[in-house]
This record gives sequence, C-alpha cells and structure tokens, in this order.
Amino acid sequence: MNIISDIKKCTGCSACYNSCGVGAIKMESDENGFLYPKVDESKCVKCLKCQRACPVDNKSEVKNNPLYYICKNKDEDIRKKSSSGGIFTILAQYVVESGGVVYGAGFDNEWKVVHTRADSAETLQCLRGSKYVQSEIGSTFSDVKKDLDNGKKVLFSGTPCQIGGLVGFLGKREYENLITVDLICHGVPSPKVWKKYLDELNHKYSATPVEVNFRYKDNHPTKPGFSNYMYVEYENSCYKKNRNDDVYWGVFLSDLPLRDSCFDCSFKGKHRQSDFTLADFLGIDRLENIDKDFTDNKGISLVIVNSEKAQKIFDIVSDKMILRETDFEKSIIKNQMMISSAIAPFGRNGFFKNLEKYNIEQLYKKYYVNGEKFGYGKVIRKLKTMK
Ligand SMILES: Cc1cc2nc3c(=O)[nH]c(=O)nc-3n(C[C@H](O)[C@H](O)[C@H](O)COP(=O)(O)OP(=O)(O)OC[C@H]3O[C@@H](n4cnc5c(N)ncnc54)[C@H](O)[C@@H]3O)c2cc1C
Repeated sequence: MNIISDIKKCTGCSACYNSCGVGAIKMESDENGFLYPKVDESKCVKCLKCQRACPVDNKSEVKNNPLYYICKNKDEDIRKKSSSGGIFTILAQYVVESGGVVYGAGFDNEWKVVHTRADSAETLQCLRGSKYVQSEIGSTFSDVKKDLDNGKKVLFSGTPCQIGGLVGFLGKREYENLITVDLICHGVPSPKVWKKYLDELNHKYSATPVEVNFRYKDNHPTKPGFSNYMYVEYENSCYKKNRNDDVYWGVFLSDLPLRDSCFDCSFKGKHRQSDFTLADFLGIDRLENIDKDFTDNKGISLVIVNSEKAQKIFDIVSDKMILRETDFEKSIIKNQMMISSAIAPFGRNGFFKNLEKYNIEQLYKKYYVNGEKFGYGKVIRKLKTMK
C-alpha cells in the first residue's frame, strides 16, 4: 500500500508511523540515510489512518494575518548560546515555567539528531541551537498527544514539514494548549552525511565529542560582534573552524546532502501552519531606519507571529526582548528560503553514490566545486526568485 502519492515528496515526518494503531509501519533508512515509511502488509488493516495523517497529501490551507518582528533576547548569555537571537529559549522557558513541556531537536548519546522532550530549564538547554541535520521524530507525535490529552501545555518546535506532520497526526490545529514553532528552513541534510563528517573528525582526533555546536559564537576576528564557528569539543582538545571554512557547512550550503522533498518543499510560503516562525533576520544591513546599536552582529532573529494564540504569548514575553516591527517584504530580502525551495545541485547523485568511496572533503570538492563552475543551481535560483 502506498501511503503518499509521490514518494519524492515524502518528508519523513513520521505522521503515518505515529498514526498506525497496529504497528504496521516502520521508518527505515534509505541508502542515502533518510527515513521513509515501510508498511508491513501482513499487519496492515487498511484503515487508511496513515494516508489521512500525511501532511503532504492533505495539506490544509491557512488563512491568517502574520506579523513580523526583528528581535533579540535581552539575556546576552542565552543569545550567545543560541543560533540567532535566542527567541526559542524565551518561548520555551515561558512554557516550562507555566508547568508545560517542550519538544524540539536535541542529540542522542551518539550525536544523532533526534526529537526529544524537556520539562525544566535544565533539560531545555539540549534543545537550544540549530542542528543542521534532519532530526528523527520517532514516537514524539504520540507523546505530544498524550501530554495534550493530560491537559499539559505543549510547545513543539521543528521544521515546517514536522509541524505539518504533527498537525496531520493530531487531525486538527486548534488544540488550545498546543503552541507550534517552525523555522525558515533551508532544507535538511542527511543524517548519514552528518555521521560520516563526525566519524571522520573523531578519527582525526582519536576521541569522541563531549560537545557539538553548529553555530558556536565567538568574537569576529576583525569586526565588532561574533563569527559563527563549527565547534566540536573533545575531552583534551577541540575542533573550531569558521563556518565559511568548515567542510560540513560547505556541503550543507551547497545543497548536495538535502532530502529529495526539500527540492520541492510543500511547506514554503507566507501562510504557515505554525503559531510562530523563527529565523535569522538576514539582510538587516539593508534596512533603513534601523538604529546602529540594534544591529550588533551577535545574532538577530526574525519572529513571525502567525496566530492570535501566538500574539497573546508574544505580548506576555516581549519584555524579555529588544524588538522592532517589520514586514513580509523586508523579512525575505535575503531569506528567500521562506518562499522557495532549494534547487537540486548538479552533482547530487554523484555525491550520494560515492559517499562510501571518498571522504567528505573530497566529495565536496568533487561535486560542489565542479557543479559551481557551471553554476546552474545559482542561475536557476536567481531566475526563480526574480519572478
Ligand atoms: C535544518 C535547518 C535549516 C534552517 N534554515 C534556515 C534558513 O534558511 N534561514 C533562516 O533564517 N533560518 C534557518 N534556520 C533557523 C535558524 O538556524 C534558527 O534555528 C532560528 O533562527 C531560531 O534561532 P533561536 O536563536 O531563536 O533559537 P535556537 O535555540 O538556536 O533554536 C532552537 C530550536 O530550533 C529547532 N531545531 C534545531 N535543530 C533542528 C532540526 N534539525 N530539526 C528541527 N528543528 C530543529 C529546535 O527544536 C530547537 O529547539 C534553520 C534551522 C534548521 C534546523
């Protein structure tokens, strides 16, 4: 039985897996390291719950009036530890302090990115910071439902397709005690590529990490404010490289390791299913009428308030932020990923086919640099965004 009409559009969100009441669906990794549902026909009772939960085939239209803010957390320590302006932590802390729970992407003990649950300021820390890898949902949608049914306030944070998946699994968006937070998403890299990168680094350092941070903020070498570093700490040493020079970042931004569905993402656009959307505010230097003190190069967020429920919460927590109002056009000046998908780069098939043969750096040089000589990806993206 096919769960989704076009498997290339399957995001691996796991709504189908969570919805199956008879355990007939497993999420299995394909050769590129992405999870897809697999149905055990001998167990399947053809109830079609899985098809109904699929957020791609049953996408509900959203009619809303989003509001746009440029924000930064007043708490400088939290902002430094966060990927952009530290707004996720403000929302998450609000929920935990009112007795609720938060679901988001963390690491397991082998540095695989997995969705996990936090119910205290301490456990929240593992969710802070972007992990640029597709996170595994596992059974968290079912866990969210249990928490909601028990009357708990729940904040669920994830990529737009994961929010779609949760909504599809729950069958409705209007849970009074559910707050959803999505991101503007560039696309999700393969967990297999992340594992390969980390294994190669661990081999070099003959150790296993004690901390990983994709966007470690430290002083910029020449300008005021911070630079972002890829940071992997070991017991007696550490790897720290500016993200412009790190090969995982290079590969990520080349789009080579992204999931098929990211090249035709069903969740782009202005009207989103989440209550809040968080992102980096890119292109702040292009804005007129923004005071120089505000643009301090230490991490600034775009916060989109998508629902009335979100507006009420935003009003409660906004004293923890320094903020300016903005609008849709300014928000996407340099953040086209809000509305358009990544373009599959030229060398992507070769990249995945040769994953076992070469190391990450060789793969990057072979498949991205060559692809860029022709520059198709960039040209097409430019044409698409010019429309
Ligand atoms: C794969 C990916 C691609 C992104 N692409 C863009 C982009 O193109 N443009 C842009 O402006 N911003 C993008 N972001 C968002 C940005 O990196 C920040 O996460 C966002 O601005 C929130 O920052 P913060 O400082 O408020 O909170 P932070 O504390 O930095 O963010 C934490 C929250 O982000 C969520 N998160 C982290 N990793 C993942 C993951 N792998 N899967 C699902 N959720 C995750 C968590 O649930 C986590 O709790 C992307 C994030 C991810 C994970």
